[in-house]
Amino acid sequence: MKKVPSPPCSPKAFPAAKGKQMTTQRTVRPEVTDFKKYTPGLTAKDIADHYSLSQVIKLASNENPLGISPLAKEAIKKNAALAFRYAQAGTPELCMAIAKHLGVSSEHIVAGNGSDELIDLLIRVKARPGKDNIIAFSPCFSIYKLQAQLCGIEFRQTPLREDFSFPFENLVSLADENTVLCFVTSPDNPSGRGATVRELETLAKALPPQCILVVDEAYIEFAPDQNTYSLLPRLGKLENVALLRTFSKMYGLAGLRLGYGVLPPWLADYCQRIKLPFSVNSLAEAAGIAALQDTHFVEATREVVERGRAMLSQEFTTLGCLVYPSVANFLLITLPESAGISACKMFEVLLAKGIILRPLAAGYNMPHSLRISIGNNEENTALLSAVKEILKPC
Ligand SMILES: *Cc1c(COP(=O)(O)O)cnc(C)c1O
Repeated sequence: MKKVPSPPCSPKAFPAAKGKQMTTQRTVRPEVTDFKKYTPGLTAKDIADHYSLSQVIKLASNENPLGISPLAKEAIKKNAALAFRYAQAGTPELCMAIAKHLGVSSEHIVAGNGSDELIDLLIRVKARPGKDNIIAFSPCFSIYKLQAQLCGIEFRQTPLREDFSFPFENLVSLADENTVLCFVTSPDNPSGRGATVRELETLAKALPPQCILVVDEAYIEFAPDQNTYSLLPRLGKLENVALLRTFSKMYGLAGLRLGYGVLPPWLADYCQRIKLPFSVNSLAEAAGIAALQDTHFVEATREVVERGRAMLSQEFTTLGCLVYPSVANFLLITLPESAGISACKMFEVLLAKGIILRPLAAGYNMPHSLRISIGNNEENTALLSAVKEILKPC
């Protein structure tokens, strides 16, 4: 029979070497093999399934106790049929709406797939692997460190004081001529403490000239007086400051993934250029624009959070817990030794009752503490009665 030669692109044109198994070498970057992934709060579904519960109260991820902004929900419904279209690259309409809301020009604004994306963008824009370094306090939001490590960037930390106040002078002394970013979370996670404008301004001025102070303001909308806590009104005078904000907390859009940076325009321009063009999806864009209009929802959320925060602070203090002062929508508490139960055990017993808090042993190395997101009145009351039940002397 006549042999027909295989066409050049058929698999037969590339026969595997006889008697030799082709083996893929599973090589990846060392930063990838060493990577320890982010530890998220447990989801309500995880717990409902595991303990066969029909109702679960989740107070673990600082989500909005009132749910989603009704105007945002309406906008998602209205735009659902357009989901087959690509969004406008860089979502300029959303950036304009954010700029207008803040009273800055839109060249400062970069929207992202959660503020997590902006953290990653800033690191990749600013830091040279193997050369530059990034500074922050310890403990801090773990994404800063994870993304820095993934990019091969040295991450330097100095501890917060025992009361979670900020020793800014120690932070400044970590900086050198290769420090390109300084991350500060204010109001801070997990303590809820806010740095003052004066402290942040002093810090910005003390950092070396190549270093950008990134203030992560994920919880700023919960602070009683934003002018006491946010550098936003001073950005015109501070050229080395970037602010990060999110729709995940105050606007109730955590699941849609939407955050933004308020950056010096030159830095915003670089971020826009390297960012994946469609990382903000069209429904998130529509929801974000609508949520900014929903002043009623923001006011209602603020009221529920302030009331819940005051009530839970007082009750946990009465129970003998150490409650740290918070201007955010969560509380950090440390259980008293006299409670005879560890934070870890308390977390587990509450889980079995269908209440999810955030233990701080894994991500934050704080085995004696728990972080509690402020819930609605019903959730807060259920949490308190469960805790009282557990602490009741047998
Ligand atoms: C929740 C949170 C964010 C927000 O992250 P998104 O990606 O916008 O959901 C950012 N920083 C801190 C410190 C947070 O706690």
